[in-house]
Order: sequence, then structure tokens, then C-alpha cells
Amino acid sequence: VSEIRVVFLGAPGAGKGTQATLLRQQASVTHFSTGDVLRRHRIEKTPLGLQAEACMDRGELVPDALIIALVEAELATTSMFVLDGFPRTLSQAEALDTMLATRCMPLTGVLFFDAPRDLLLRRLTARWVNPRTGRIYNTITDPPRAAGIDDDDGLPLEQRVDDTLETATRRLDVYEQQTAPLIAYYTQRGLLTRINAAADIEDVAAQVRATIPALQRMETHR
Ligand code: AMP
Repeated sequence: VSEIRVVFLGAPGAGKGTQATLLRQQASVTHFSTGDVLRRHRIEKTPLGLQAEACMDRGELVPDALIIALVEAELATTSMFVLDGFPRTLSQAEALDTMLATRCMPLTGVLFFDAPRDLLLRRLTARWVNPRTGRIYNTITDPPRAAGIDDDDGLPLEQRVDDTLETATRRLDVYEQQTAPLIAYYTQRGLLTRINAAADIEDVAAQVRATIPALQRMETHR
């Protein structure tokens, strides 16, 4: 059986989560999103959730030690996975290499979801909600009839803290400074494949599907 162990690398808004969800339905891989796990911890008010809260709301990274412990616990139970949103720093990438090396399960590939910053900003700030009813709009895929106004009650829509222009800008800056160096790290290791993440969802999904044979071959040729 050829195994797939892949990292989805790319800025917030590049569509990694969407594509990981699609891939999980086609290949039998575990989709592991550190952002999703952290959000669940926050809802359940666990110690980790409470520690992570402030960093997340500012659009900054949660400390490496917390994240690495989380991933280590999660990866102990699976040999086929898509990592989405991890690693985000060089020390996380090195910790991942060590974790996988001790189990003789190296990565079989890294997909880099590449999209221009203006598009990422537009996607990240696209979500607006009616705070009275909870109805969610997306200014790209599901816009209200009049900009900023709810279709049902005609009152102003609002943005969640983490969807505002200010937080989105901060998240992209953090990505450029701390995560973008991983592009070179994985290129040097011969693992990186670039995906044009500016295309629409179906097009990107087709690009991702096209990489699967290569992701599997890397394992068999090792
Ligand atoms: P995401 O949904 O992947 O954009 O993650 C949401 C937030 O969770 C990020 O803005 C960070 O605050 C935190 N987070 C998720 N993954 C990591 C990671 N690998 N390292 C540090 N912080 C993370």
C-alpha cells in the first residue's frame, strides 16, 4: 500500500482546509488541522484552549511548544495524513521531521498553495454575519443583496474579530515572516510541489488530485 503523508503549506485564505476536506473524501487520509483542533479546545475551555485564545484573536501564532505537543499526540495514531496549518515555523518543521524519523515515516510530499496577497485578503475578509440572527454571508460566494446590509431585517452586518481587515493583515504578515521560509526548507529537501491556489475550487482540486501518484511514488522509491 502506498502511503501519503503530506503537508499543505500556504497563507491563510489559500484554501488549504477546503482542499484537505476534499482530498480526505477521495483518499483514506486523516485530515489534521491545528486551527480546527485549537478552536475545539477554545469551545471546550480546556487549559490549552484558554492559553491559545489571546494569540489566536490577535492573528498571531500559538507558542511552538504547545503546538508541537498537540501534533505529537495526534500523529501517534496515524500513518496517512494531510497536515493543514502545521508546521508554521522552522522549529515546528524540524520537530515534525524528528517525530516522523523516529517512526520511519518521512513526509511523502509538500503542496504549496500559492496565491497573491490581495486575493488572500479579499478571501479572509469575505465573511459577514447578522449578529441578531447568526446568518452568514460571503462577499465572494454568497453576498447580501445590498453591501453590508442583511437581506432579512435590513440592518447592518458585522465581521467577527478574526475576519476583520486588521486581523487578516496581521495573519498574512505573520505568515510572510514566520511560515514563508518553509518554502525554501521543503524545496531544498525535494518535497515541494506548487499549486496555483488563485484558481477556483474545482480547478485547485484537480491540481491536487494530479499530484497524488507522485506523492505515493516518493514513498515506494525510498
Ligand atoms: P488556522 O485556522 O489554521 O488559520 O489557525 C487559526 C489560528 O490558530 C492561527 O491564527 C494561530 O493563532 C493558531 N494556529 C493554528 N495552527 C498553528 C500552528 N501550527 N502554530 C501556531 N499557531 C497555530
